[in-house]
Amino acid sequence: MSFARAVEKKLLRAQVASVEQLLALNERELRSLPDIGPATVSSIISALAEAGLSLAADPYEAYECARHSDVARDAELRAYFLCDSCRDAYAQLAFGDRSPEWVSRERVEGYCGHCNELRVVRLSQWFLCGTCDRVIRSIGRGLASAKFVESVWADTFRGTSELSLRETDPVELRPRGRRSDVDRSATADFVADYVSGEAVLGIELKSGRSALTGGGIGKPMSQFQLDTTDCDDITAAAVALNAPVFLVHAQVIGRAHAPTERYEGVGLWFARPWDMLQHLEMVRRRPRETRDAAYFKTTMFRPFAEFPSYVEDRFWADLESMRRGGFPILYQR
Ligand SMILES: [Zn+2]
Ligand SMILES: [Zn+2]
Repeated sequence: MSFARAVEKKLLRAQVASVEQLLALNERELRSLPDIGPATVSSIISALAEAGLSLAADPYEAYECARHSDVARDAELRAYFLCDSCRDAYAQLAFGDRSPEWVSRERVEGYCGHCNELRVVRLSQWFLCGTCDRVIRSIGRGLASAKFVESVWADTFRGTSELSLRETDPVELRPRGRRSDVDRSATADFVADYVSGEAVLGIELKSGRSALTGGGIGKPMSQFQLDTTDCDDITAAAVALNAPVFLVHAQVIGRAHAPTERYEGVGLWFARPWDMLQHLEMVRRRPRETRDAAYFKTTMFRPFAEFPSYVEDRFWADLESMRRGGFPILYQR
């Protein structure tokens, strides 16, 4: 029995007796028929295509996520208040040149969800899946966080420091999967150079809504979670830099400027890498995820205001110790 004949028999068993009946079905309905598997469905679709025919359109078809360019069941219209240049940047850099599905005609003065500047913004919608929506929203917060670090650094070290900070791994809009894991892992977010130009330390910045002890707004976190891959990235960056990389946490909160929101950095803390392992509580799989996280006691962090005195008192000995004995282990299973 030929394959085509076998398919026909399956369709007949499912009460699809004519081409007309078949063409009235959409792909989802066809898949739901008894005995019709994915291989049969695709052979039917290609046989129809050869005859210049196609299945019916599915009124409940999943939408295509603009960022990862594939259909996703949870892709839906997601709305962002954006200034004109950031709307173009979203379309060109993150969404493969896709224009928004809709842009409000109304122009409001408010904070742009991406550059966090007070501008004329318009509500702009694209189809995005839940994961890509979270990533895109976190970029605006990340940009605000990086600016916050630069301004706190300038304030805390004002007039005293022989160290200058530069951003080495800026947060950028990009489609999913554009940057390889290799170059991502070996670069700290910021590097501080000594007056001689030598890079002497790096900063790996993590931003969140919550405070740590000693400053910030609201109740401090009881535990600090860091993906083990992030710990590995810190180690790789330190090795590449041949200098210690410090984990820095920025508390960035949203303040309403209706209908928009402004991101504001309200707290900054650092952890000395040599203090991390002794504050490790456990390593376990994150709930509902496939990634492992290291859970640290938050007492490993100190307010960033103490960083200049740490640099003066202890940092140069730490740098020496790393160059002699290597970067410390940050976690163990
Ligand atoms: Zn903007
Ligand atoms: Zn997506």
